[in-house]
Amino acid sequence: MLHHAAARFARNVEAMSGGRFSITVDAPGRHKAPLEVLGMVRSGAYEMGHSASYYYKGKDPATTFFTTTPFGMTPTEMNAWYYYGGGLELLEKVYARHNVVAFPAGNTHIQMGGWFRKEIKSVQDLKGLKIRMPGHAGEVVGRVGMKPVSVPPGELYTALERGTIDAVEWVGPANDIKMGFHKIAPFYYTGWHEPGAELHVFVNKQKFDALPDDLKVIIAVAAKEVSIDILSESFYRNVLAWEEMKQHSDIVIRTLPDDVLELFKQANDDLLDEVARKSQLAKEIITSQREFLNKAKNWTTITDADYLRLR
Ligand code: CA
Repeated sequence: MLHHAAARFARNVEAMSGGRFSITVDAPGRHKAPLEVLGMVRSGAYEMGHSASYYYKGKDPATTFFTTTPFGMTPTEMNAWYYYGGGLELLEKVYARHNVVAFPAGNTHIQMGGWFRKEIKSVQDLKGLKIRMPGHAGEVVGRVGMKPVSVPPGELYTALERGTIDAVEWVGPANDIKMGFHKIAPFYYTGWHEPGAELHVFVNKQKFDALPDDLKVIIAVAAKEVSIDILSESFYRNVLAWEEMKQHSDIVIRTLPDDVLELFKQANDDLLDEVARKSQLAKEIITSQREFLNKAKNWTTITDADYLRLR
């Protein structure tokens, strides 16, 4: 989907600029270094890239929260924060330090919490449970007794089938169905960890600054178009994949028990506080998101939550 979105972005930029600006899209596997997109754009090896900000957590802890935060904002809230609530300004500030201009460019909507071989009935069931769950959320579950493990995607199915690992967090039905996890781990947990993962277009800052104003606007508009396109496509494909998946398997949808979620929430808050103490910029983002979410939650409850209940 990344590749397809990048191609769409390139087509739109070329058409909007009347052919003045043409972008060649390389295949995602070209460098066998999916986590090096930022580095390649920063150095100028590429003028542009499409990637997810949280892949660069190791280089800069502030980048994580531009993609998603556990128990954080929904895609609607995230867009409000980005475009009106100060998100874009913080994105600019953080990425300027990496010689990059970044734009939000696609949200995969609320991700599922993963496939479990056994049901989680209480916090006792978390002890020693091996789960594929990367990033910040992996650190959260690691703090409450689970064992986050890193397994190459090609080996995940076998590891789950053999019980080498107990659970796998992936994306949602559209992506998960191809992996086949539903055939071997029936408990499909709802998500808490990635309530909408935002992707980004990165542009080398010198190259961007040297562009005429109209091309700068065209890039920003094309990124915004890809953003709505990915969100719409992700939602649509998940709807269809879920319909298909549930017909062919005895999947049991579960939400984690309240005591487990409370534990995750506390561990997540503690981890956010720790990251904020280590990085001033991360602190600014975490604080800005928390302040906005505290207000947005009330409105989302009055509108989305209520409407979903009554419809
Ligand atoms: Ca995921």
